[in-house]
Amino acid sequence: MHDSHIHLNLSPLCNNIPEIVNNFVIQNGKHILTQSTDQVDINETIAIAQQFPDIIDVALGLHPTCFEEYTIQKGMTKNIYEYCQKYICDWEKVFEKENSNVKAIGETGLDYFQFSLNQKITSEQIVMFKEIQKHSFARQITLAKKYDLPLSIHARDVQEQNETVQDSLRLLAEQGKGCVKGSFHSYTGDIYLLGDILDLGFYVGFNAIITYKSGANVRDILKRVPLDRILFETDGPFLPTQSTRKNGKIKEKFAQPSDVKEIMGVAAEIKNVSIEKLEAISDENYTNLFL
Ligand SMILES: [Zn+2]
Repeated sequence: MHDSHIHLNLSPLCNNIPEIVNNFVIQNGKHILTQSTDQVDINETIAIAQQFPDIIDVALGLHPTCFEEYTIQKGMTKNIYEYCQKYICDWEKVFEKENSNVKAIGETGLDYFQFSLNQKITSEQIVMFKEIQKHSFARQITLAKKYDLPLSIHARDVQEQNETVQDSLRLLAEQGKGCVKGSFHSYTGDIYLLGDILDLGFYVGFNAIITYKSGANVRDILKRVPLDRILFETDGPFLPTQSTRKNGKIKEKFAQPSDVKEIMGVAAEIKNVSIEKLEAISDENYTNLFL
């Protein structure tokens, strides 16, 4: 069993790493890929992994929403583009220094969904942030090529749109020139673009969304992904499983790596294979991609 996308540095996970890892290991858990999303969490992410170096692997990346969060959400009104350019350059310097500790670049990608939540953002700013996100992602794809590292990609659109997936696929083709690999984590996009993702050799990460009543579209996506391209993840502490959500005795509801067992159980039914077989194949996928 593996968890290919989680944020162990976030609370409440970070408060009890030994217990979280133990819960995972007693369920036959082998590897956890913890993701960093900006400059601030790099050191804590690496320090957490160093506590369990045989189990916790590190991904370092710049999350697409960090640019908006660090600028206009903090009241910045001028020179936002320049600030973000410098932020990317500074992050790259840290990445170059730390790359030997790293198994993947992530969390990276594009997110045009968050703009829809911000009432104050102007249409000019949206155009600018899309450019910044694409620039940042392109630079991270170039780094993936340089260091032969896989990418853990987040691509989130406003419902019924596919712009981030299309832009991601284009940037991967342009910058990666067919030699970068990786996974689309928590893919909830259009099913017709799934073929392009698979054609590019990418994997697809499935989490507790497949256990939710509302997850029918992602269960359909899972049906179409071949076994040798499936990865599991929790995206913890976000996305607790359905059994956690429904359990009134659990006060603090969050996702942790041992939840992959429940996710895999649902996936095995959907794929009509035994859990053992699904676990063995998906663990091999993790090893092939990240190790
Ligand atoms: Zn994530």
